[in-house]
Amino acid sequence: MRQALACEDCGQQQAGGLCEACGYRRRTEAAIVEAGLVAATWSADLTDPGDVAAVSAEVRATMEREIADARAEYLRRARAERAARETGTAAAVPNPAPLQASA
Ligand SMILES: [Zn+2]
Repeated sequence: MRQALACEDCGQQQAGGLCEACGYRRRTEAAIVEAGLVAATWSADLTDPGDVAAVSAEVRATMEREIADARAEYLRRARAERAARETGTAAAVPNPAPLQASA
């Protein structure tokens, strides 16, 4: 049964071989590579592999920064919503988990 397979990227159980989050991550990675190549066809000297790599790297850096910003914003909102829910219903948690240090 395929559904019983763990995610091969993060090991989550019952993920059918690839969980939803890792599936999106893989598609994002593929999109970043593709966007870099598309940008290179417009702006790089295609006979110069170094130039193509430089354009791809620049596109990747830009996209990864924007993805990181979007994710931080999403997590900030999710945390705020969860905090609002918890203070509204459950008893106060004595020691809330510390914010994760950014890597
Ligand atoms: Zn996964």
